[in-house]
Amino acid sequence: MGWLMSKYSVGVDLGGTNITIALVDLKGKIKNKVKISTQADKDARYIIQTIIENIKLLIRDINCNQIIGIGIGAAGQIDHAKGMIQFSPNLHWRNIPIVKEIKKECKLPVFIDNDANVACYGEYLFGAGKGAQSVICVTLGTGVGGGIIIDGKIYRGAGGGAGEIGHITVESKGRKCNCGNHGCMEAYVGAPHIRERCIERLKTGEKSIITRLVEGSLSKITPKVLEEAAFYKDALALELWQETGMYLGIGLASLVNIFNPEKIIIGGGVANAGKLISDPMMKTIKERALAVSLHDVKIVRAKLGEEAGVIGAAMLVLSE
Ligand SMILES: [Zn+2]
Repeated sequence: MGWLMSKYSVGVDLGGTNITIALVDLKGKIKNKVKISTQADKDARYIIQTIIENIKLLIRDINCNQIIGIGIGAAGQIDHAKGMIQFSPNLHWRNIPIVKEIKKECKLPVFIDNDANVACYGEYLFGAGKGAQSVICVTLGTGVGGGIIIDGKIYRGAGGGAGEIGHITVESKGRKCNCGNHGCMEAYVGAPHIRERCIERLKTGEKSIITRLVEGSLSKITPKVLEEAAFYKDALALELWQETGMYLGIGLASLVNIFNPEKIIIGGGVANAGKLISDPMMKTIKERALAVSLHDVKIVRAKLGEEAGVIGAAMLVLSE
């Protein structure tokens, strides 16, 4: 491994709003990075060209033979083997051969995977998963993303669809999810769904300081507002967190039973609620997971934050 230490890899985190491109050393340290606006209204060719130009700028001062490759993390349906973005709802792309395009101009090995997988890979290598071999990551944001690492490898499934943790059914006749199904974990734990659940309760006439915290405009309710309300011991907010943590726990208990992971790493904005969500989550996991697997698993907070994606993407080259 000695020769690897003076090497770098390029990570690209291709999001619907921003693109982050970073030069990362093989210990997971970012040496240099640039964040640009995605300009999602432009076509794929333009955006890919912008990425290529920025990669070239970023590696300008580095000796070519020090760069081992380029890795891309992008939201949506990714065909890892073909190097294609099959469908990106944020960018409105279909069947874009992004790996081929970048390879053509950069003359380096290029790999792509979905954003949740690369973020999980970053946490596994250099973040909260360091030292473990079987790791599951759950990102609690607008949606509920997931990544699965088994024996040190990203588990993608037969067609790249693995890791959709947010769509575990936690309630058989439950709330409608964006995927079209009912009762998915995401339909309870995703930030917009937490807000909807809150609004529904307020509309039944429940008294709560939440209404005052958002000055009457209920669309402004966020998990952060509910954290604040819970701080003031607001009954509705406390109950909503209790329920959210419980549904998360139901989903995670299944993962514990199926994968017997060493670690489950929880990240994303909704996780900032801390104990409000983690206490009922842990309680539910303890009630529902089988003792043998429960004994092995540590449930921890993500460490790398926003940078997990770009670091993990850069390290895709190592995983190949
Ligand atoms: Zn769903």
